[in-house]
Amino acid sequence: MAYPNLGLYIHAPFCQRRCAYCSFTSTTALSLEPLYVKRLLRDMADWGRYLEKPALETVYMGGGTPSLLSQDSLAAISRVIHSEFDAAGLLEATLEANPGTLSPEWLKTAMRGGWNRLSLGAQTLDNTLLQRLGRVHDAAQCLDAVKMCKDAGFDRISADLLLGAPGQRMESVQEDAARMIDAGVEHLSVYILDLDKQCPLKFQVDNGLAELPPDELVAQAYQALMEYLPQLGLDPYEISNYSRPGRHSVHNIRYWQKKPYIGLGPGAAGNIGNLRWTESENIAEWINDDGQTEIQFLSLEESLAEIPLLALRLRSGVNWSALRELAEELGMCGLIQNWERELAPFIARGLLRLDGENMRLTTEGTLVSNQIFQAFV
Ligand code: SF4
Repeated sequence: MAYPNLGLYIHAPFCQRRCAYCSFTSTTALSLEPLYVKRLLRDMADWGRYLEKPALETVYMGGGTPSLLSQDSLAAISRVIHSEFDAAGLLEATLEANPGTLSPEWLKTAMRGGWNRLSLGAQTLDNTLLQRLGRVHDAAQCLDAVKMCKDAGFDRISADLLLGAPGQRMESVQEDAARMIDAGVEHLSVYILDLDKQCPLKFQVDNGLAELPPDELVAQAYQALMEYLPQLGLDPYEISNYSRPGRHSVHNIRYWQKKPYIGLGPGAAGNIGNLRWTESENIAEWINDDGQTEIQFLSLEESLAEIPLLALRLRSGVNWSALRELAEELGMCGLIQNWERELAPFIARGLLRLDGENMRLTTEGTLVSNQIFQAFV
C-alpha cells in the first residue's frame, strides 16, 4: 500500500553570496545546478517507486536560495513531484525565496508548478544591518517582493525576521513586522540570531570586532514582540512562528507533531517512524552520490521523548494525558514520572502550565524553553 500523508522537504543549496551569519548547507558554485537537479530528480523517482507513489500532504523547498534555481530547473522539479508522488491532496507547497532574486516570470513558473506559498528571507528592513549581515537585498526589494508575489497570485506569504544581530535596534523588529504585514505578509517567523557554528560574524564577535546585544535586551524585545504581533492580527502558534488565524505553515507543523517526511538534497533530514536520516552535507559528494548519509534508529525512549520535546514548541502544547497513556502501554511509566519530577519546578515558577489535558509553555517559559527541554534530553 502506498504511504499516506507524507511531507517532502527539498534542500536547494545555492546562494548568490554567503551571508556573514550563515552556517547552512549552501554554496555559491551556481554552475553545479544542472548536476544537483539531475541527482534530485533521480532521488524523487527512487522514493516515489520505493514508497509506491506516496500521497504528499505538504512540500517545502528551502535552502540555500530556491529562488536562484532557473525556471527550467524549477519546472522540472515541480513536474517530477507531481509525476512520482500522489500530489492530488497536496495541502501546501512552499518555496523559500530571497527578495533580491525574485522575478515575475520565475513566480509564474512557480505558480504553474503548483506551489502556493512563498517564504521570504527578509531578515530586517534596516539597510545598514542588511549590508552588515551580507544579504544581497535591501528593504525596498523586500517590500517589492511581497507585492510581486501578490501580483503573481500568491496570497500565502511568509517572511523571516532576525532578532539579536550586532548593532540592531531592538525596537526595529516591531517596526519591520508592522511594515511587512502592511505590505501583505500573513505569517512571520522570528529567529533569534544563533552563532553556535563557525561563520564570519562569529569570528568578528569572538575577536571583539562586533558585539551582540545583551541576552536580557534580546529577551525583552522578543517578549515585547510576542505581545505586539497579536495587535497586528498575528497569533503565535509556535515559539518562533506567528500567523493570521488558520494560516500557519502546515508543513512546519508536521515536524513538531512528528508526522513523517522525506528530506532530499544535501544536508536534508528525513524521518519516518523510528528511522531518521540526514543526507551528506558535502554538496559535491552529495551530487556524486558518494557522500555519507547518517542513519539513526531512535530507541523507544528517544521516540517517546521527542513527542513533548517537539510539541511543547507549539502554542497548543503536548497532550500530557495521551503521552502518559502511551508510556503506560509501552511499559515506560518511570520515564514519565521522571519528567514530571523535573518539570514540577518549572510549573511552580509559572514557566509551564497544565491546561486540562495539555501541558504548554507560558510566555515567560518560551524565553527559557531550552532549559525546560533539557528534561527530555
Ligand atoms: S541566503 Fe540563507 S542560506 Fe544563503 S548564505 Fe544567506 S543565510 Fe545562508
